[in-house]
Amino acid sequence: MARVLIIGAGGVGSVVAHKCASVPEVFTDIMIASRNKEKCDRIAAQIKHRTIETAQLDADIVEDTIALIESFKPDMVINVALPYQDLPIMDACLATKTHYLDTANYEPIDEAKFEYSWQWAYHDRFKEAGITAVLGCGFDPGVTSIFTAYAAKHYFDEMHYLDIIDCNAGDHGKAFATNFNPEINIREITQNGRYWENGQWVETKPLEIHKPIHYPNIGERESYLLFHEELESLTKNFPSLKRARFWMTFGEKYINALNLLQEIGMTSIKPIMYEGKEIVPLQFLKAVLPEPSSLGENYKGETSIGCQIRGIKDGKERTYYIWNNCEHQKAYEDVGAQAVSYTTGVPAMLGAMMILTGKWKGEGVFNVEEFDPDPFLELLGKYGLPWHEEVDKDLAVEK
Ligand code: NDP
Repeated sequence: MARVLIIGAGGVGSVVAHKCASVPEVFTDIMIASRNKEKCDRIAAQIKHRTIETAQLDADIVEDTIALIESFKPDMVINVALPYQDLPIMDACLATKTHYLDTANYEPIDEAKFEYSWQWAYHDRFKEAGITAVLGCGFDPGVTSIFTAYAAKHYFDEMHYLDIIDCNAGDHGKAFATNFNPEINIREITQNGRYWENGQWVETKPLEIHKPIHYPNIGERESYLLFHEELESLTKNFPSLKRARFWMTFGEKYINALNLLQEIGMTSIKPIMYEGKEIVPLQFLKAVLPEPSSLGENYKGETSIGCQIRGIKDGKERTYYIWNNCEHQKAYEDVGAQAVSYTTGVPAMLGAMMILTGKWKGEGVFNVEEFDPDPFLELLGKYGLPWHEEVDKDLAVEK
């Protein structure tokens, strides 16, 4: 039925390839392309029941991506490379009139700043070309945004307070490692925090606000307020929100290691000279840290990510909590990945399926909460991420 080109062969790319391969009635032809073709070949070799084509591609070079799209002729590109590649891949999709999907919004390589403005600016051009760009279709952003849209559709007349709570209670046994691309992850955490309140952004120092929050099946974990990209689109698409915050757990050991790395300059993105060559300390650090795709085998424990919402229904106060817990070991048994890659790759595959089967339609650039959440959530459990909900119970984030 449809041909799909996956760009990026890291932890998430591997999950997307495995999951697309498990749905041959939708994804009839699959290619995975990345900067390093051996990583693509390794993933293709793991998927024994299907033939997955592979290619070498530097997606920063628009002409090369256009040439690959013209030769493979995909109906859709799933971009799970890095946020730096979003705009060049969107340019290639526009030039070839190919649908586009990603899981993280664009940020320039020389400035740790992510926002949607760059990608939203493509809306009219995608509309004119008659193609769809789906932005932020991982877990957070992605499922958290779809959970919020589902709450708005079925449970609230007006949503007032949204807290996205993200816990990884897993243990990979390494001294220090990040669960997705270390460079992108550390850039995100070391920035100032930010949340939405009464029509404006309130800025905090990095990891300044924190408190214990209770997570289902896990218990209390110290959770830190961060800025996360879905807050930008959700406050735009659900203007009744008076406050929107994002919380993520970190262990004490992780925070101490990160603080030390920061203090000694290892997380800096300013180039320095080393033996006559310019290097970026954070990129060097990434090179010595474990790859996210290598963490799965010994990872124990689970993640728990969801949305806690307070608002009004039929003139009365209402609370709502919707969440998924995902076990690292189960993700590993399914596709050989840890839960953070898994919870990102499954929704990316499912978002592509929504477009390719016509369940989500639209010409232009869209955040996932702008589509109908129902067909997506009907299938999310079937593909490995069952979800749960509670109505009118006390919200853990408010305790
Ligand atoms: P990895 O670092 O494991 O993988 C990234 C892949 O992209 C690597 O294979 C890398 O190649 C490839 N790549 C980098 N630059 C280029 C380029 N110029 N051209 C082609 N390929 C390139 O990261 P993850 O798999 O953990 O993360 C992938 C994406 O998913 C990131 O954008 C991340 O922010 C996002 N993400 C989203 C989440 C969500 O919930 N929404 C959660 C987790 C991740 P090479 O091997 O050569 O470096």
